[in-house]
Amino acid sequence: MNENRASAGKSFRKNDAQVTIVEVSPRDGLPEICKGLSTTDKIKYINKLSETGLRKIECASFMHPRLLPLGYDAEKLITGISKKQGVTYVGLVPNEIGCRRAMITQIDEILILISASDTFNKLNIGRTLKESLNKMLPSILDTAVKNSRSVRAYMMTAFGCPYTGKISPEDIVQLVLKLSYMGASEVVLVDSTGMANPRSVQAMLRVLLDLQLDINLAVHFHNTRGAAIANCMAAYDAGIRVFDTSLGGMSATPYGVSEMDVGSWNVPTEDLVHLFEEMGIPTGVDLEKLLDCVRMAEQMARMRLPGHLLRAGKSSQIVGVPKHLQRHPIMDQ
Ligand code: MG
Repeated sequence: MNENRASAGKSFRKNDAQVTIVEVSPRDGLPEICKGLSTTDKIKYINKLSETGLRKIECASFMHPRLLPLGYDAEKLITGISKKQGVTYVGLVPNEIGCRRAMITQIDEILILISASDTFNKLNIGRTLKESLNKMLPSILDTAVKNSRSVRAYMMTAFGCPYTGKISPEDIVQLVLKLSYMGASEVVLVDSTGMANPRSVQAMLRVLLDLQLDINLAVHFHNTRGAAIANCMAAYDAGIRVFDTSLGGMSATPYGVSEMDVGSWNVPTEDLVHLFEEMGIPTGVDLEKLLDCVRMAEQMARMRLPGHLLRAGKSSQIVGVPKHLQRHPIMDQ
């Protein structure tokens, strides 16, 4: 087992008291919402996030410039950030060429993509599941492991595919085992189109966690139908301790739901951190510093983001009774 993988395995165990929040907004959401944002501003944002106590940040994509014309700055961005000790910086690698680009940067971990549904894999990645598993991913993982980088894998449509329906826990187990064998240190179960519910989440996770696999399991829920936070809680109760979230809920437009606004897709980091902390579950994240990052993101986006906490404040925060409510209008008559 390579060192990265071993250390990643020790970091997140289901009996850990502390949960790990993986911030995805610099990669997933920010480029879409803040179109034309300079690399310098992106670097400032990532540096600010690095000071909040977050332990893992997805910060760049090594996509082809044709697919990501506004975000083609991964190398420059990673060179520019002030890497903080204890924070793992992650870059999305869509194929072998992207992986080779990533290896010559200081990125700590790569993110690879696969779907539990063959149809979704073809539509989203342009390859059959077999092609991904037998050709592309072994080559990427081999390169990453040889270069001492850890690998997290997104298992898209893990809780259902909009084109083919339900995905069985047995299918997920087989895919997780293959990714683990290839050298992935973390598999993220992604509810790509928001089809999960707390019961399906618990049923799926019970099967996976009972196997006590030598791999970290994480979840990445989408709020397409308003169930994302409930699903996070169900995953926590099942034993999951790693959660993907995005500051302010920043996201791109959801798959196949074009009527939904951007930003209504990912779980807002500040809302989930607040919820865990209020429940006595430590996140290691400084909520005030996190809210400063939300303010910065809103300034860059020139819009309000859908996260709740910036406007609502902490639920434990006692506020003074406003003057206009201090005298009851009926009693005054
Ligand atoms: Mg997402």
